[in-house]
Amino acid sequence: MAKRKPEEIEILKCTYPIVRDELSGHGKALEILEKSLKNGTFPATVLISGPPRVGKTSLAYIIAAALECEAPTPWACGECLSCRKIKRSLFPDLRIITLEESDKGKLKSQILVEQVRKEVLETIELPPYEGKKLIFIIEPAEALNISSQNALLKVLEEPPSYAHFILIAKDFGPLLPTVRSRCQEIHLSEVEDSEMEKIALEMNIRGRKREAIDVSRGRPGILISGEWEDFLELRGALEQLLVLGSSLEDYPKLAPMFDVLLEYQPLVVLDEAAYMIKEMSRSLEDPESGRSETCRKILGAGGRENLFRKAKLILEAPSLLVRNVQPKLLYQSIFLDLGRKPDTGLN
Ligand SMILES: [Zn+2]
Repeated sequence: MAKRKPEEIEILKCTYPIVRDELSGHGKALEILEKSLKNGTFPATVLISGPPRVGKTSLAYIIAAALECEAPTPWACGECLSCRKIKRSLFPDLRIITLEESDKGKLKSQILVEQVRKEVLETIELPPYEGKKLIFIIEPAEALNISSQNALLKVLEEPPSYAHFILIAKDFGPLLPTVRSRCQEIHLSEVEDSEMEKIALEMNIRGRKREAIDVSRGRPGILISGEWEDFLELRGALEQLLVLGSSLEDYPKLAPMFDVLLEYQPLVVLDEAAYMIKEMSRSLEDPESGRSETCRKILGAGGRENLFRKAKLILEAPSLLVRNVQPKLLYQSIFLDLGRKPDTGLN
């Protein structure tokens, strides 16, 4: 999610997790799903939510493989022909509905109703071609616009007995209540540090293990894909921008940091900056760390008041991006504050 887009990483990997043990953490969600797989009551429509890189797409493939496997236990065996095809996303009855490319080769920002008609409504009446089920994975579901969501309502309410829908969304906000009410919701939270430790060991991350786990913030995909190194670079640049006194004299030191930010997707940058501000505010409130080097630097750069101002600008930033404000201008307006008054103390 950092420098490389997730779909590029998936192309590099070319395979998807399909057996239960390939999903790190999320024991509770798996337990609930396992019951319904065993009872044969697996819901026709599920909506998986959670932060980026936490394992949503992996879970969707693991569910799809369990539903199609020739010898399920009730999870997928990982060996049969159906499992092997799903692993490479080559199974004809597994349909992935995602953002299409525009004529200019850029990803569209919405899943339009024409695409829903062509890829779902016109094909769902035909029973599965090779497998037991016809499975539609829709990701990112929040990219379905209102017309697309309305077009799906009927099939989400009463799909043919052989059809399953797995919707994947980072955030429920843009989804209509009528869509959500038709889905069983499964939320994946950040996984615990002990789980991340295990993954770091499996990935053979030794020298910088603590840093890697810390910067991954409970999102296994960041450790597994190696993106944690990108995140460390991003965090380093953001730290400079947050703790250097953002005055005119500092600008030559700050300018290269803006170039680093521009290598990442803006929403990733904003999310990371908001997280860092939260952590910094917390450390200012902690008397134990109150006199630490970082705290002194934050106070030198305008202290709590300046952090709050930046946090407010960060919250407003996504709506400006939608209105096509250039990321560089946006970052400068957030991180450079040439007219501020210095803060004088912890409170
Ligand atoms: Zn199998």
